[in-house]
Amino acid sequence: MEHRVIPVHLRESYNVLIGGGLLAKSGSLIRVALGDCRLAVVTDCNVAGLYLDGVLTSLREAGYDTCSFVFPAGEQSKRMDTLSNLLEFFAEERLTRTDCVLALGGGVTGDLAGFAAGCYLRGIRYVQLPTTLLAAVDSSIGGKTAIDLPQGKNLAGLFHQPSLVLCDIDCFHTLPAEELSNGAAEAIKTGILEGEPLFSLLETGNVREHIEPIVTQCVRYKANIVGQDETETGPRKLLNLGHTVGHAIEKCSGFSIPHGYAVAIGLAIIARAAESLGAVDEPIAARIESALVRNGLPITTKFSPEALANAALSDKKRTGGQITLVVPRAIGACYFLELPTAQLENFFRAGMEAGK
Ligand code: ADP
Ligand code: ZN
Repeated sequence: MEHRVIPVHLRESYNVLIGGGLLAKSGSLIRVALGDCRLAVVTDCNVAGLYLDGVLTSLREAGYDTCSFVFPAGEQSKRMDTLSNLLEFFAEERLTRTDCVLALGGGVTGDLAGFAAGCYLRGIRYVQLPTTLLAAVDSSIGGKTAIDLPQGKNLAGLFHQPSLVLCDIDCFHTLPAEELSNGAAEAIKTGILEGEPLFSLLETGNVREHIEPIVTQCVRYKANIVGQDETETGPRKLLNLGHTVGHAIEKCSGFSIPHGYAVAIGLAIIARAAESLGAVDEPIAARIESALVRNGLPITTKFSPEALANAALSDKKRTGGQITLVVPRAIGACYFLELPTAQLENFFRAGMEAGK
């Protein structure tokens, strides 16, 4: 089966390849893009059980010398001691400046392995092999890497672009339904930004059936934005749609609510707030809510507007007396709203009361 190629145009451009069976061909695809080097595969224990052998076989068939590092699955591994173990592993394996890291897994693996690749020997190359929908449509593209600190999520990290992204859509067959929903939230976010035909595909609620066009369109959208604004000083901020509320919900829940689920609630609240304040060109809230619900996602929260506003205002995105929100005006049209921080709680309340 042929795959799609979506370029990300930066000073050092790279391609995102999307298709079926790419892990089994990873060795030859990486050889074309990177040439010869040693490859250190980083993956979590769940993904290792499913896909590591297949990838290692393909790499060896393509003539690569490999080593692999497996860590316990879950967000709690995205922290300093795993990072330091990983860096020491690279050093033990004597990886050099020309060698390369492969991040095989979801967002946790990509963030952790990307960060380690970005600081080992002041930066070596890495390849993203996203195996969750969330990583495929969002976190594997754009070069944001990070670990969590006890004080908060993603507090230490750097921009380090991958040299290649191989997105094997067959991986999603083994993904649990909740993980598919988690990624669907980011895809719906992209659908609200981009419009049709992506949003309509997501409205069906059947992501599995439309997986290839959904992933392709999300990647194309994100690749284009990242190409315009690598370090998020301008249009890349649009990708924060739903995230101010989403991050606040994650925080209030003590991070027991997964990222995509929290973003889903954030998308619903911001859409209802915009609509109830008359700031939309067309009714959007019901459509957005129904797309979220059909994909198994929540649209309400038990936390109060006050608690969410307090959590959002202690967030790193706060600047002075204003907070910048991304607000939808129509499906396919969002804009930046500068809101005085004192009005945030009422804005959230407008989006929460309209949902009752
Ligand atoms: P995310 O991608 O949502 O940021 P993780 O990287 O922690 O988060 O992945 C979520 C969970 O899904 C982890 O337990 C991981 O081991 C598991 N996982 C990742 N990819 C697959 C897959 N293709 N099939 C089954 N489970 C997977
Ligand atoms: Zn997100």
